[in-house]
Amino acid sequence: MYIGRFAPSPTGELHFGSLLAALASYLDAKSHQGLWLLRIDDLDPPREIPGASSKIIAKLESFGLEWDGEIIYQSQRHHYYQHALDKLLTLGLIYRCNCSRKAIQARSGHSYYDGHCLNSKVTDKSCNYSWRFNTERKIICWTDDIQGQQSLHYPQLADFIVKRSDHLWAYQLAVAVDDQQMGITDIVRGNDLLAESAKQLALITALKYNPVKYKHIPLALNLLGQKLSKQNLAPALSSQKISSSLFQALCLLGQNPDKALLHAEKSDILKQAILNWNVKRIPLKYPDDSVSRYR
Ligand code: GLU
Ligand code: ZN
Repeated sequence: MYIGRFAPSPTGELHFGSLLAALASYLDAKSHQGLWLLRIDDLDPPREIPGASSKIIAKLESFGLEWDGEIIYQSQRHHYYQHALDKLLTLGLIYRCNCSRKAIQARSGHSYYDGHCLNSKVTDKSCNYSWRFNTERKIICWTDDIQGQQSLHYPQLADFIVKRSDHLWAYQLAVAVDDQQMGITDIVRGNDLLAESAKQLALITALKYNPVKYKHIPLALNLLGQKLSKQNLAPALSSQKISSSLFQALCLLGQNPDKALLHAEKSDILKQAILNWNVKRIPLKYPDDSVSRYR
């Protein structure tokens, strides 16, 4: 059984880049007669924008992207993350680290963590420390169903944080735990998270979770070549242009929608798109300028 998901962070409204990720994961799930779950990744209160979650949910509904089951909120799942952390601790796979970014940079000349606290143990438990996963400097290899063969190793894959010194959970740990618990089999998302898959796979292996398959779609860039993001103020999706936005997203995803669908009802566009969905047609890169033309 295929189970997919869309997992937006409530740091702003959905933009055209989010629509591409939501639509691709929805169509991939539905064309496999699978479930498509919705999870709100609200793990980082300082980065959250009040009201963003409900706006995201309403926008998905207005685009006809209906999820299966209850919405899952990461903010209500701290006990699961704690359980996983305890397990990693028992397995001897995490360690305390109290290095500042500055100290790491000064020691190694770059921002990748050098494993300093693995050897010189943090004994003062009253200080602020984070928990890091010990990658043992292994190389992680995997296949992405769109991007092909991948591998990552030290220093790009360095011992990464699973719980921050401000006591917030790291995205890597939460996503591995949640995807496992939700029974996710296939992850379709933007290519900005491609390298994060290596860390998630390392955790999945350590915690003996079921494997997941990854498909990373190309990133939508603005005219300056920056990724569309809530941070660089990509415009929110407009509820006035639902059919044309869906149509344009399908074009970018290489699905070649029938021109007649441009002015069709969203439900008809989605129905056709599910029938025609072919992941092999997704390009490795969108044509230059294409995204900015499409808004
Ligand atoms: N919440 C993450 C984000 O919006 C995505 C999580 C995921 O798809 O794995 O960047
Ligand atoms: Zn350290």
